[in-house]
Amino acid sequence: MKGNAIVAGAGIGGLAAGLALLRKGWQVRIYEQSDDIRILGAAIYIWENGLRVLETLGIYEQVTAGMQQVQVRERRGAKGELLGVENTAASGRLFLPMRRALLTSLKDAVLAAGGEFHFGKPVQGADPAGGLRFRDGTVEHGDLVVGADGVNSRVRDSLGLLRSRKPVGQYGYRIMIHRDPGDAAHESRSRISEHWNGSRRLLYAPSSPQQVYIQLTSVRGDPAAGAPFDRGSWLKTFPHRGWVIERIPDDGKGDWFEVVRAHAWARGRVALIGDAVSAQPPFLGQGGGVAMTSALALADALAKHDDVETALATWQASERRFVEWVQTVSRFYGELALVPPALRKLMLKLLTGNAWLREHTIRCAALRPPTGAL
Ligand SMILES: Cc1cc2nc3c(=O)[nH]c(=O)nc-3n(C[C@H](O)[C@H](O)[C@H](O)COP(=O)(O)OP(=O)(O)OC[C@H]3O[C@@H](n4cnc5c(N)ncnc54)[C@H](O)[C@@H]3O)c2cc1C
Repeated sequence: MKGNAIVAGAGIGGLAAGLALLRKGWQVRIYEQSDDIRILGAAIYIWENGLRVLETLGIYEQVTAGMQQVQVRERRGAKGELLGVENTAASGRLFLPMRRALLTSLKDAVLAAGGEFHFGKPVQGADPAGGLRFRDGTVEHGDLVVGADGVNSRVRDSLGLLRSRKPVGQYGYRIMIHRDPGDAAHESRSRISEHWNGSRRLLYAPSSPQQVYIQLTSVRGDPAAGAPFDRGSWLKTFPHRGWVIERIPDDGKGDWFEVVRAHAWARGRVALIGDAVSAQPPFLGQGGGVAMTSALALADALAKHDDVETALATWQASERRFVEWVQTVSRFYGELALVPPALRKLMLKLLTGNAWLREHTIRCAALRPPTGAL
């Protein structure tokens, strides 16, 4: 079927859903509370599953332009000792484009396909018959409503669909740093590397010949968690990566992570997508990835059925349980920060060395072909 869709939220989930529906012949209006799409100056992991969605939507080239495909990831312990080297290319492609490139490519493609944006329009809630209510008292109707309004989703809450919202007690500080001209020739400066010491983790992830994505994670109770970036304290934790820490600017973005689960992903003519129903700590780099695969699968299900409610039931049955598994794996992987170092070392070695284990846990989302992909 085709029809008229109204989308709440112009983040990765809402833009991808809007574009996927436009590609299937729907009319799409996207309502966003901010005055434009919200851009954060950091990179984002996009694994094979997300890249296939971008290819299907026709924006892969724009998003990955100038970026380098990641080949290898290493994990290191407290003293910088190597715990294992993983061939990431064995789980398909991985790129780390800038969020700006992803969001602006999605937005431009929505506009080019005839979609409409309404900025500065906060949504208040939705009703199952296909209405979207706004804070200014107005109401819009569609054959389909997509709630893609993030972790604090009004759409989800107005329908009573929130099952749980669990803080995981972990905090991440993310920022980009510049690469020195010699870094690319330096093997250990060219690989993604995860450094674990105590409950802290430093992620170093080259995204292009010019830039590296950095993420520092810490747990509740650590003075570094939730606080401004404390260079001295991170230097003490990872002295062997001093050359990275010295380059980290102190105006990065910090977030506390949480896991959101819903009773259902749909009610009546309303579908919920992205962080509204599947927020997760970012240890697998899949929150945005599964938002995009859910969006593509939604448009595919609608194209295959004659009524919205049957399509939403089919969509939910094929996607929801899998995404909940991805959320669980991501939380467990992050919780390696809380286990004794010897056990963590063993588990990281296992994950690095055992392809079966990896493919059924930390790589399961990357390896699952997106429903509706070319
Ligand atoms: C530290 C960190 C690192 C991450 N790294 C990765 C990664 O490497 N790879 C990956 O795939 N994912 C990653 N993620 C997760 C990813 O960023 C999210 O899963 C993704 O952005 C969710 O997209 P969304 O569209 O569902 O929500 P959001 O991006 O939150 O977008 C929601 C949109 O809705 C708008 N909105 C909210 N309320 C209203 C309202 N009432 N009315 C109208 N509009 C509203 C907001 O302004 C926003 O534009 C990371 C997350 C964090 C915190």
